[in-house]
Amino acid sequence: ARGTVSPVNVPGWRDYPLVERVRRATGGRPVILVGDGVAMTAAEHWLGAARGHDNALCLVVSTGVGGGLVLDGRLHPGPTGNAGHIGHIAVDLDGEPCACGGRGCVERLASGPHLARRALENGWRPGPDGDVSAAAVAAAARAGDPVATASFERAARALAAGIAATAALVEIDIAVVGGGVAGAGEVLFAPLRRSLRDYATLSFVRNLTVVPAVTGTDAGLLGAAAAAHAWREGAYAGANAGAGGGT
Ligand SMILES: [Zn+2]
Repeated sequence: ARGTVSPVNVPGWRDYPLVERVRRATGGRPVILVGDGVAMTAAEHWLGAARGHDNALCLVVSTGVGGGLVLDGRLHPGPTGNAGHIGHIAVDLDGEPCACGGRGCVERLASGPHLARRALENGWRPGPDGDVSAAAVAAAARAGDPVATASFERAARALAAGIAATAALVEIDIAVVGGGVAGAGEVLFAPLRRSLRDYATLSFVRNLTVVPAVTGTDAGLLGAAAAAHAWREGAYAGANAGAGGGT
């Protein structure tokens, strides 16, 4: 709401005045600020897998785990633009400390770097190219490596628990999962759907579906455009947005 950002995984950007800097760099044009998870949600609701769904959770699973909500047919960024931060819902009460200051967060179990680190700690070894990314772990899982598979299953369980909690709280009927880790395809989605059956058990969340995002690497840009358009139309319910002098 103040036009600043404090991304958990970018310590050098605490309270960074992003709106002011962008406004200056663009000759004083109006600037609105929307988080990547919220932007991806706007894109998926406008043109992607959440189209036509009035209550949806969209997730970006990559270096971190972000997300956004559509509630009652509208993007729901919350008062400061941070609603939908599913990556920092605790799903492991005694879990490892998280960069956010919490403990046992979804992100700590499901982000690409943490998923790959867990595979390495449990004995998975990269191929001759030395690639230790989540994509390399996904390739190993696809080839039948049990440690790589287990690391994806653990990530999937964390995501499923977070998605089920969200569904119980605000009644969503679809969860759309994008980001680099989601590029693993069925290596992630098969255990995710399986785990959801364990966690999303109440009658009103049981029919929740989980699908891959379709807007891909364009999601952030498309969503930013959607948010800017909604703001011009006066329909953007969001935070701040930097307001740009009311032009
Ligand atoms: Zn956290």
